[in-house]
Amino acid sequence: MDHFLYRDGSLWAEDVSVAEIAAQVGTPFYLYSTATLTRHFRLFDEALDWGPHLVCYAMKAASNQAILKTLAAEGAGMDVVSGGEYARALAAGVPGDKIVFSGVGKTHDEIRAALTGGIRQFNVESEPEMRVISEVATSLGVIAPITVRVNPDVDAKTHAKIATGKSENKFGIPIARAKEVYAEAARLPGLKIVGIDVHIGSQLTQLEPFQQAYQKVADLTEALRADGHDITRLDLGGGLGIPYTRSNEAPPLPTEYGAMVRDTLAHLGCEIEIEPGRLIAGNAGILVSKVIYVKNGEGRDFLILDGAMNDLIRPAMYEAHHDIVPVVEPAPGVEQQPYDIVGPVCETGDTFAKERMMPPMQAGDLIAFRSAGAYGAVMASEYNTRPLIPEVLVKEDQFSVIRARPTYEEMINRDNVPVWL
Ligand SMILES: *Cc1c(COP(=O)(O)O)cnc(C)c1O
Repeated sequence: MDHFLYRDGSLWAEDVSVAEIAAQVGTPFYLYSTATLTRHFRLFDEALDWGPHLVCYAMKAASNQAILKTLAAEGAGMDVVSGGEYARALAAGVPGDKIVFSGVGKTHDEIRAALTGGIRQFNVESEPEMRVISEVATSLGVIAPITVRVNPDVDAKTHAKIATGKSENKFGIPIARAKEVYAEAARLPGLKIVGIDVHIGSQLTQLEPFQQAYQKVADLTEALRADGHDITRLDLGGGLGIPYTRSNEAPPLPTEYGAMVRDTLAHLGCEIEIEPGRLIAGNAGILVSKVIYVKNGEGRDFLILDGAMNDLIRPAMYEAHHDIVPVVEPAPGVEQQPYDIVGPVCETGDTFAKERMMPPMQAGDLIAFRSAGAYGAVMASEYNTRPLIPEVLVKEDQFSVIRARPTYEEMINRDNVPVWL
């Protein structure tokens, strides 16, 4: 459920009219709802309230500080995957002891920054990385809390580009080798083992792959404890999917997920961490864009928007579907027609949808891409020297531009022309 609903014949975000924001901010822009963000966070938090837990928002999904602060105020920790995200989380006021550091290739500098600024744990992805973390910690005279990310070799049954839990993926260490890796971790002077980490992919629409992975983590917990390791924390990753189409079968709810986690892992008495990103931010954001032209092609009509693939890459990159709705509510019974909905970038990949049924549209009409809050703004680029589009946050009847659109001048002045030119 989200807070983008038609009211009095047009789309509103909570208690603000989307068209009103568009008039003030200009299109295209991302628009987030505070009530939806907090609702989704609380669903997870409550789903795990049968035991000690921390919901660490995977901030790569949408990392504006206003979003981080909104969630941190609810008690969220953060899952970061780069030094930049770590710095951003600190800047948003998240304490280091609520930040977990994931990611396949943490550099010396990133590790040092996190150990200096405070960190809840590193989720170690490989043996070489584990050795470097120990070295850096030793050189700073501190002990780094770690989990090892195990790759459970389960099929997440999701898009190939976002499946991470099969042995052929680059993530984690094979679960079959976990015992030796933990033995080495225990010998390294700069590390303290605190638990186990697993993350099998994104946009999962079934519980079964999670359950398979978590059962393997449960077995591994017992095996590692038998070897004398102190396993007190299980980081279960993120990945629960969202409904991108209203017509589709809905993915499992956080409550169902939480109950499955309890049934599979509660008996171990560990603190549970989860790292949801998409399910917190995805349906909490829309992308608002304007129709520039309606072009009647041969056998098909195109809606050419002012938004493009550089603003929202998901359709081009993952063949992702986004529901696209007119901001003015269609009159009941209005006859729909198929449109190819495209951006102005010179690439055939700059196509958001083909033969999408929409009410008749005209130049100047506003449309909204639903479910664009996660992996939208954060994956945007300035391709074609198109400015990164603004982000706007609504809270009840207020809204605020939480990232402004840069001017052309600001963009161009970032180039540095060498003295010889
Ligand atoms: C991407 C990622 C997440 C978040 O995945 P969602 O599908 O957005 O919930 C969590 N943990 C790790 C390690 C990730 O790489």
